[in-house]
Amino acid sequence: MAKEKNEKSYKGLMIRIIVAIIFLGLLFSTYFIKDDIETYLNSIFYPEVSNDISNSKLVMHFINVGNADAIAIELPNGEHMLIDSGDNNNTSREALISYLDNNFFESGEEKTFDYFVLTHSDADHVGGAALVLQTYKIEKCFRPNQYTEAEAVEYNITDSKNIVTTQVFQRFVNALEEENCEVEFFTVNSDINFSDFDINFIAPLETTYSDVNNYSPVMILTYAGVKTMFTGDAEKEVEEALLNLYDGYTGEYASSVLDIDILKVGHHGSDTSSTENFIKALTPSYAVICTDGEAYGHPSQTVLNRLENNGVKNIYRTDLNGNIIIGVSEDGVISANLGTYTKGFKIEWYQLVLLIGTIGLVIIFSVGVKRKKKR
Ligand SMILES: [Zn+2]
Repeated sequence: MAKEKNEKSYKGLMIRIIVAIIFLGLLFSTYFIKDDIETYLNSIFYPEVSNDISNSKLVMHFINVGNADAIAIELPNGEHMLIDSGDNNNTSREALISYLDNNFFESGEEKTFDYFVLTHSDADHVGGAALVLQTYKIEKCFRPNQYTEAEAVEYNITDSKNIVTTQVFQRFVNALEEENCEVEFFTVNSDINFSDFDINFIAPLETTYSDVNNYSPVMILTYAGVKTMFTGDAEKEVEEALLNLYDGYTGEYASSVLDIDILKVGHHGSDTSSTENFIKALTPSYAVICTDGEAYGHPSQTVLNRLENNGVKNIYRTDLNGNIIIGVSEDGVISANLGTYTKGFKIEWYQLVLLIGTIGLVIIFSVGVKRKKKR
């Protein structure tokens, strides 16, 4: 009798183990649709963001290139724009080129940028510029009012603040000459206008700045009533000048020029930019910070709090969200393709597997056990 009982419980245990193995196998096989599961769940928990960018005619890719900027844009007319080129190291350059080749350009498509905007000469913006010029066809390059020493002589530039002596900037200028593309030193008159979208340059407002970051253009891309502001690394000084120009510093923040929807946060989220008054004037719903989350203490907690306190619902960071894609449809609907979410929180596949796995195993090994004991 005892032997029979033992055999029975041994058999029962074997069945439970087999069921557990099949269960775990099925559970882990969901790894292959991990991204879909995460996207689906996060879209339920954060329904204000649609993860589907397939209806978007304007698609902006904020590429994860470290504590640096690289933003590739599919414009509504099918043209391509690139703003900055990542950092001056191989990891960043490889991340940029690999993303552009595999995720930005469609296969078989001619790899062309109709506009390449280099915001300013810092290494974390110009780092991959020479490579970009050599790798892709660039129709037109917008460059800041900054010159190499040789160019300064050629263009009769005398203020040393406009002269850049770094090797990485020199390599960019050399590549520019070799590739022979159209070049424009951008100003507030560099606007790009089409029937259904506009890119307005509202800064730089000066020709010479003591801080290199402030040479950055501030551009507003308007499409289907949605405005996106690109800031490069422009700092407080530029923000204040823009507030003076467009808001008269009334504190009422009524300017329609500065009232935007999506903000590429200035200078990697540093507190040298994104002043309280500026954020209040912009009232963005979306903010994107291009950062590795480590270098120079970027992004600043003060700036993160400021964005949140001013009602910015969606704060995306390349260090937390990876590559960030934001799309705008013909009807002005904004979609974000992250699969990951804001404020450092995201439902991840492994968390689900842990939860369901634990519950499942508890059920498999406990159901029926108590009842048996009672008998
Ligand atoms: Zn920078």
